[in-house]
Amino acid sequence: MNRTRSEQLYQEALQHIVGGVNSPSRSFKAVGGGAPVFMKRAKGAFFWDEDDNRYIDYLAAYGPIITGHAHPHITAAITRAAENGTLYGTPTELEIRLARMLKEAIPSMDKVRFVNSGTEAVMTTIRVARAYTKRSKIIKFAGCYHGHSDLVLVAAGSGPSTLGIPDSAGVPASIAQEVITVPFNDLDALQTTLAKWGEDVAAVMVEPIVGNFGMVMPHEGFLEGLCKLTHDNGSLVIYDEVITAFRFHYGSAQTFAGLGNPEDIQPDLTALGKVIGGGLPIGAYGGRKHVMEQVAPLGPAYQAGTMAGNPASISAGIACLEVLQGEGVYEEMDRLAIKLADGLKASADRHGIPLTINRIRGSFSTHFCDHPVTNYEEAQDTDGEAFAAFFRHMLERNINLAPSKYEAWFLTTAHTEADIDATLEAADASFREMSGK
Ligand code: PMP
Repeated sequence: MNRTRSEQLYQEALQHIVGGVNSPSRSFKAVGGGAPVFMKRAKGAFFWDEDDNRYIDYLAAYGPIITGHAHPHITAAITRAAENGTLYGTPTELEIRLARMLKEAIPSMDKVRFVNSGTEAVMTTIRVARAYTKRSKIIKFAGCYHGHSDLVLVAAGSGPSTLGIPDSAGVPASIAQEVITVPFNDLDALQTTLAKWGEDVAAVMVEPIVGNFGMVMPHEGFLEGLCKLTHDNGSLVIYDEVITAFRFHYGSAQTFAGLGNPEDIQPDLTALGKVIGGGLPIGAYGGRKHVMEQVAPLGPAYQAGTMAGNPASISAGIACLEVLQGEGVYEEMDRLAIKLADGLKASADRHGIPLTINRIRGSFSTHFCDHPVTNYEEAQDTDGEAFAAFFRHMLERNINLAPSKYEAWFLTTAHTEADIDATLEAADASFREMSGK
């Protein structure tokens, strides 16, 4: 396949933009390096690159594009917003509409605040939890990603009940000391950690369904136990639902069937982003009234934003949720994802390639290994070279995946049966080539 323009543009981008990309996950570093594909247009389930190659897209911009690219209902909403002025710096009625939609779908959110990214949303929930509890430490789970603010760019220390170490240069050790990392799906480790650091712990932060080391479900009773242990300790539960909200059903993980009795798995604060902006920059956080009233102008915890609640993002978010309210929307993504995931697994088996697929409704992750993946350690213990080879074979066959073994495939409402068939055909040829037969 000819990707000359992408290669040229990458060389040019390297001169002006650090690493040639505006987010490190867009680089091809984890899949053997070289020029990432420069896209110039997207519509529905498809991307076209600068050399006019067409790809079926399963990246969905790392999650937000759940209705497919350039959905007409969302495009119309953005156009209308642009015509009426994109930024006011005053309140608007639109913000109330989107806040109400979020509250109706996520009952633990009595009050909401809009920000501009998932990073900001998470960062602020931590500040609010600290303000509310007057404590400083945070417990997080290994491999969960919560954006790039200092506190959450921290990895596990040498054991489950030790303090964290910075995962990025520029994060002071003093800040990493405020974070304790424990393995996901391990209530014993959480209990030990709370027993040791309990009085200092402001909050336990978790992706209730993990989207950042593949898609990983919590074990039965995990969220329930997490909420109970945390609350008994006088700490707050923060759910990072930046990926999970509106991804699997019209609502969030807090009300997703099978994760536990809804009353027993409610967080105090929730961070949102991605889907709720319909493809424009957004974040939001919310929670219990008495906790959220810590936030300025009502309370002492400060958070602000020039761009926050801008009419374009809010309008796109409302339009996106309206599309998702349509009859059978999630069921269809589910149906196609089952066909795709089952077909991929059967094809890998046929070619003798070990593959574990974690599917949760319309999203799934592909792990090149022959064991289950239920925590970060197991996700790390998979064949990154096999993933890189698969990624490149698929790209050559016009299928666009995320360039990392930890990222999910996202179905959208735009994918069709024909796209799934074409993808399975490409995968079968890719696995055949990988198996060397
Ligand atoms: N939390 C989770 C669970 C995420 O997956 C991400 C982004 N992938 C973030 C937070 C950060 O969101 P943003 O990139 O919008 O800052």
